[in-house]
Amino acid sequence: MVEQDDNLMKEIVALCKRRGLIYPGSEIYGGLANTWDYGPYGVLLKNNVKQVWWKEMVMKRSDIVGLDSGILMNPKVWEASGHVTSFTDPMVDCTKCKKRFKGDDITSKVCPECGGGLTDARQFNLMFQTHIGPVTDEKSTAYLRPETAQGIFVNFKNVLDSTRVKLPFGIAQIGKAFRNEITPGNFTFRTLEFEQFELEYFVYPETADKFFTDWADERLRWYVDLGLDSAKVHLKAHDKKDLAHYARAVTDVEYKFPFGWSELEGIANRGDYDLTQHAESSGENLDYTDDEGKKVKPYVIEPSGGVDRATLAFLIDAYSKEQVGTIENKKSANQQMSSDGGDTLNERVVLKLDPRLAPIKVAILPLVKKEPVMGRAKEIYENLKGKWFVEYDESGTVGKRYRRQDEIGTPYCITVDFEGLESEPQTVTIRDRDTMEQKRIRIEEIEERISSQLR
Ligand code: ATP
Repeated sequence: MVEQDDNLMKEIVALCKRRGLIYPGSEIYGGLANTWDYGPYGVLLKNNVKQVWWKEMVMKRSDIVGLDSGILMNPKVWEASGHVTSFTDPMVDCTKCKKRFKGDDITSKVCPECGGGLTDARQFNLMFQTHIGPVTDEKSTAYLRPETAQGIFVNFKNVLDSTRVKLPFGIAQIGKAFRNEITPGNFTFRTLEFEQFELEYFVYPETADKFFTDWADERLRWYVDLGLDSAKVHLKAHDKKDLAHYARAVTDVEYKFPFGWSELEGIANRGDYDLTQHAESSGENLDYTDDEGKKVKPYVIEPSGGVDRATLAFLIDAYSKEQVGTIENKKSANQQMSSDGGDTLNERVVLKLDPRLAPIKVAILPLVKKEPVMGRAKEIYENLKGKWFVEYDESGTVGKRYRRQDEIGTPYCITVDFEGLESEPQTVTIRDRDTMEQKRIRIEEIEERISSQLR
């Protein structure tokens, strides 16, 4: 079982590289451990994850506004938030094999790799440091933000002063965060540089418990709605005794990755900790004044997720291998497909991504490399290309082209053939990625057909 799951991760990493989804970072220089680059299809996939989140969290809601704050902030922000003193992991080293472990992961007093002795745990700050200006000293120290949330808290007053938000309301942000992780790994699950989508939802204190539960349910629903198998994603409440001092309650959305149940997103009731800290440290009044002139220190509910982790979960969940052949090949044969086509390819790898997440929505494939088939196929491509990410592909047999699109999760392939161009009105076939069913539709219907499938 474990071996199978190990293989699954390897297959997914290989697919990601082969098909231009995710590459190892700085690869031609031997790489840089735990950094990854998103390729031409990967960037589309990840952008779609962010766009769907932004649409749900900001566009469709009148109570949430967006923000894009800087990665570099005044170091006082990180003192006030507690990150300078407390954003640490305990780290232990094996005195024999020299391997390094996160203290939390070690359950015995000996090295899990070689049985050697372990050093005492030392606290290690996860923030990356840099320096502003030409002089590298303590005064010039700055940090690459380890989370986007603090950018929201320090702009709380700006948003109150410049918009018409009223409690309860939220500020949402998507952006890069950096952590000098001790034990990164598992592909893009834990990396040094990653993106977060975070919402700080400010509420009247007495309503915080209810909003906390509502947000946890809502965030779980989001992942399932976007295609994660509901048996592989769940909410897991943190034990009260394990909570950080500022958190009143935390629930994680966990996904059953091939390497075990792990956090996708954390939903926390942070009380008024952050606003109080920043008010005290900055001297600014960060209270909210209600319509009756009463001052309130709002509580905040924070759903904080990782874009890369979510993308990885969607990829893993969508990955399937299927035995195919007969149905599709018969159909292809009817369509004058040449005999070197799909009929020898009887296993297909397919990413069954939700169409909203799929990097390419439609591939336009001329069945043969002949006119007028190619010309008409190009026209269809030209007509669709500004509306969605679509691709025109004429290289190789149609069977291989279908496989290529299956592997990047393209929900629809449109094939242009002589038969369709000779009919009146002209038709094409549209192939559904998951059922592989092909239907003949009129060329004028294409756009409507696709928009109805892409919510
Ligand atoms: P973990 O326990 O896995 O280290 P965390 O509890 O420290 O995560 P948070 O500080 O709550 O994580 O960050 C919110 C989200 O940001 C996480 O749920 C995760 O999706 C994402 N995230 C955090 N650290 C990383 C990382 N090193 N690489 C990729 N994503 C990350």
